[in-house]
Amino acid sequence: MKTYDLVIIGSGTGAQAASSRMRAAGWSVALVDHRPFGGTCALRGCDPKRVLMSGGEAIDAETRMRGHGVTGEARIDWRDLMMFKRSFTDAVPRNLEKYFAENGIDAFHGFARFTGRDVVVTEGRELKARYILIAAGARPIPLDIPGQEHAVTSEEFLELEQLPARIVLVGGGYIAAEFSHLAARAGVHVTVLQRAERMLPAFDPDLVGWLMEKFGELGIDVRTRTTVQRIDKTAGGFIVHASTDGQEQEVAADLVVHAAGREPDLAALDLAARRSRRYRATTARSLRKTFSTATGTGRTTEAFRASHSQFRQLPRLASVRRRRARRGSNSECTRRRFLTGTQPDDSTNRSTASRH
Ligand SMILES: Cc1cc2nc3c(=O)[nH]c(=O)nc-3n(C[C@H](O)[C@H](O)[C@H](O)COP(=O)(O)OP(=O)(O)OC[C@H]3O[C@@H](n4cnc5c(N)ncnc54)[C@H](O)[C@@H]3O)c2cc1C
Repeated sequence: MKTYDLVIIGSGTGAQAASSRMRAAGWSVALVDHRPFGGTCALRGCDPKRVLMSGGEAIDAETRMRGHGVTGEARIDWRDLMMFKRSFTDAVPRNLEKYFAENGIDAFHGFARFTGRDVVVTEGRELKARYILIAAGARPIPLDIPGQEHAVTSEEFLELEQLPARIVLVGGGYIAAEFSHLAARAGVHVTVLQRAERMLPAFDPDLVGWLMEKFGELGIDVRTRTTVQRIDKTAGGFIVHASTDGQEQEVAADLVVHAAGREPDLAALDLAARRSRRYRATTARSLRKTFSTATGTGRTTEAFRASHSQFRQLPRLASVRRRRARRGSNSECTRRRFLTGTQPDDSTNRSTASRH
């Protein structure tokens, strides 16, 4: 069994930042992903979405300039736009394979799960590590309503071969806001069913207020304080049953899109194999906060939201830990930091960990 300084579960934004920076800091690094390398942002989230959104933005710019030196009417050709999107996404897994190989990062394909405190197994191969970073991302939360299987995910929306005439979005966060604008610009009749008091509850209310005027102009039907209760399949599409302040309502749709939130994708990891009470407590806390990424090693862990700024700190942390190891200091202080926890004898492990 090979021992690494760092094993990462996932190959998305979090994994890429951590693996490249820790490798550059001299650590031996491996990562595992059961899907093509690249993760959500590059393949199924931010980047493909932005390419598609740029089509909507072009229509918006054209509409605002019409009669002011711009004539004609632009329209979205969904099939062409999807091909343009693929020109950005298709090469990502291949490029990452190459990047990992060229930079001495061992990259494995397969499901990873814990078999011990500091060991994960993938495709029958055991990987031992001083640190294991869980960068497994998120998955759509279960809607827990009859007919939930009829709703497509954001990933499926971003792969649609054609746009239908009527779309219902379940949920009113940023994914619903962006998808609804894009679809409306392409001529789709869009309804957003949002349980909360307003759309985008995590964003500034004044800004959202202005945005809602734009929703109105585009004809997007936003229904707040509306809870979706059931999705029925019909001969021609779907009927979404919902309730607004106790009032039952039905909305007909050709496509129902789940945009009601995502949760950490930890189910397959077999975290119990780590056999650590503190770990389980921390994981439960992090799940409640819906953090998508956790990091941990030894007997302690802390969850944190993956962001570029946090990962920028990783090399600094590596050098702090090297200095501490030389001084033989204990890990109490470090434990409070976002990348945490070592056994008291970890400094000796450190020198024996294999390096490339
Ligand atoms: C539609 C959409 C639009 C978004 N738009 C934006 C945006 O505009 N701006 C923004 O900042 N964020 C956006 N996000 C969020 C952003 O995509 C995520 O925050 C980010 O991708 C999280 O990165 P990550 O590395 O933590 O996980 P991910 O990129 O999700 O990578 C996790 C990887 O782990 C793998 N994995 C999971 N479990 C295992 C296992 N047991 N074994 C092996 N591999 C496993 C998965 O296959 C996956 O490839 C968007 C998300 C979505 C869905």
